Amino acid sequence: MPQLGLGVYKMTNREETIQAISHALKVGYRAIDTAAIYENEKETGEAIRQSGIPREQLFITSKVWNTDQGYDATLKAFEASLERLGMEYLDLYLTHWPVSDTFVDTYRAIERLYDEKLIRATGVSNHHIHHLKQVFNIANVKPMVNQIELHPRLTQEPLRNFCNEHGIVITSWSPLARGRLMDEPTLMQIGMKYGKTPAQVIIRWHLQHGLVVIPKSVTPSRIESNIDVNDFELTLEDMMKIDCLNLNERTGTNPETYDEA
Ligand code: NDP
Repeated sequence: MPQLGLGVYKMTNREETIQAISHALKVGYRAIDTAAIYENEKETGEAIRQSGIPREQLFITSKVWNTDQGYDATLKAFEASLERLGMEYLDLYLTHWPVSDTFVDTYRAIERLYDEKLIRATGVSNHHIHHLKQVFNIANVKPMVNQIELHPRLTQEPLRNFCNEHGIVITSWSPLARGRLMDEPTLMQIGMKYGKTPAQVIIRWHLQHGLVVIPKSVTPSRIESNIDVNDFELTLEDMMKIDCLNLNERTGTNPETYDEA
């Protein structure tokens, strides 16, 4: 699984979406993170086909939305996603949110898709420790990925430790805290040392923590700079300074209290 990919949430304009994904693929991204609810799976598939990059060189993730959860409904939703993407398989398919009555059955369906080789990896999103434990009770194959909100204002250490103990890869969603940390003094100061932007420093912090990171941008220069992070390395001291920016502050919904509708 590539450690850095493009997130495509809130890309709703057709041309803008195709252009952003095409540009990302041109400058070296090989992973795209979409979801049925983003309503851009069709454009994602189109941009990928236009790129001419062989399917097997790409890592494509999608997610089953809350109203489609449960065993049979998930299998059906997966088929619809595949059709919109125009693909024969996905690399990773996730339960988008742990809908209380159905998320365990949703995961059973994801396991079946894995057994049938329709997905290359299983996973969940927005699962806390108690959700994961419920999934473990029925799982033959533990979720391979948990995609959660994670950035310097929400470092999620207990959940990260739990996932590490169970061999679950974490993908950070809203890794840039939706662009809100671009004038944060510590990040600016660290960036100045390396001639890098706060966004690049944050992305590097995710990578050095072993997290998968999927920053979203429709801006060509940002798409390029967000992947231009392999020519510097944060020191342990830099990493610890960034860890200390944690305020347990979310930019998105808390999985304990979200509206399941
Ligand atoms: P991000 O933290 O990736 O931030 C995106 C915002 O930051 C956009 O407004 C973008 O602007 C801006 N931005 C991007 N790069 C830079 C830069 N270099 N400098 C300054 N600003 C920048 O937020 P997202 O919420 O989009 O999260 C990323 C991905 O995570 C989503 O696209 C989606 O794939 C996934 N996700 C998953 C969720 C889940 O429940 N599983 C929930 C939310 C997100 P612009 O586009 O205008 O350049």
